[in-house]
Amino acid sequence: MANQDYSVSEMITLEACSACSLCADACPAVSAAGDAKLSGVYRLHQLKRLQRSRSGFLGKLFKKYRMTEEELSQFGDTVFKCTLCGNCEAVCPVGIRLKDIWVSLRQDLVHSSAYPKKVNVIGENISESHNVFDEDNEERADWVDDMPDAPKEGFIKEQAEVVYFTGCVSSYFPMAQQIPIALSRIFQAAEVDFTLLGEDEWCCGFPLLGAGLREMTAEVIEHNIEAVREKGADTIVFACPSCYQMWREHYPDVFKLVHFTEYVYDLIREGRVPMQELPMTVTYHDPCDLGRGSNVYEEPRRVIRSIPGVKLVEMKRNRDKCACCGGGGNLEMIDKDLTAAIAGEKIEEALATGAGTIVTACQQCVRTMNTYVKRNKIGLDVLDITQLIEKALPEKED
Ligand code: SF4
Ligand code: SF4
Repeated sequence: MANQDYSVSEMITLEACSACSLCADACPAVSAAGDAKLSGVYRLHQLKRLQRSRSGFLGKLFKKYRMTEEELSQFGDTVFKCTLCGNCEAVCPVGIRLKDIWVSLRQDLVHSSAYPKKVNVIGENISESHNVFDEDNEERADWVDDMPDAPKEGFIKEQAEVVYFTGCVSSYFPMAQQIPIALSRIFQAAEVDFTLLGEDEWCCGFPLLGAGLREMTAEVIEHNIEAVREKGADTIVFACPSCYQMWREHYPDVFKLVHFTEYVYDLIREGRVPMQELPMTVTYHDPCDLGRGSNVYEEPRRVIRSIPGVKLVEMKRNRDKCACCGGGGNLEMIDKDLTAAIAGEKIEEALATGAGTIVTACQQCVRTMNTYVKRNKIGLDVLDITQLIEKALPEKED
């Protein structure tokens, strides 16, 4: 029982809901599952019911609306079947900060013990191993071993101007490890003075928010700030939009924070990234945490257009209306089939553009969409923007 899990503005704004249902129409989970109980409008209605039944006076008044334990537990399941994509918030005509409310609601449900217990593993893994997969944190930068052209000492320096914060998925997941490899090659070509944190990088804490464990983020925030400070860096570059958003919104304002697409666009304008012709037609998928979450829409498109030979075609829903890939909000852990169904709708939209490649700027989007196209033997390539640029880098002469 914790109405305190919500900020005052969250409590006030949720009363503004006009029940127009536009959030339900825009929700990829509702569309893929055909289940209205996954919609924002249903969730807000239930949340109000829950809150009113808790307080003393209103509790008596609204006694007959009180949820049974079973209803509360079923409600908890629906709340976690959400990618936290923010599409509902983007269309809400009264401007309710729905994504923040969904995160607070998850925390409330954890405090109320009415949540899918599968998510406990996120807190356990991060607390014990400092990464979301319970891998050995000393192996965070082991992907460098797959780069024959890497410097002998790897990419971990004592001091550097820029820290590249890799994130858990790109550090450990084989398919996603191609992203830090590509990014490092681009930074090498542009002669960027960068370092990794290696084992001193801990999970940024974003999965903890999605798991309703906001209290646990303080320790990882403090640790990561100190780790970057020790490198003497003033800038942190992220290829993971979720790490980027987490640092922007929940870390103290100490360093300059830049997503790779913004950073590399400046490098390209300065003429520091050599590129050869790449005859390709691609479409661009806006990752939820980079687009709606961080308002970065144009830099990735400018980067793509700056590669000679590459033609960019847009999907029907793009920029702030872009449909989610299905991989956010820890949904894959809760309901794999729903993630796949959402990814399927996304891939259909990409195929309709006639592009041979869907480019994104997020390791989780790459994982989700690639898994779907491979399983279903669909002829569409999925690339991160780092990999697209890497393809355009001229071959090194021996
Ligand atoms: S955040 Fe996305 S998946 Fe979750 S309710 Fe809103 S639109 Fe649906
Ligand atoms: S779009 Fe906004 S106002 Fe309309 S039902 Fe959803 S939360 Fe309520």
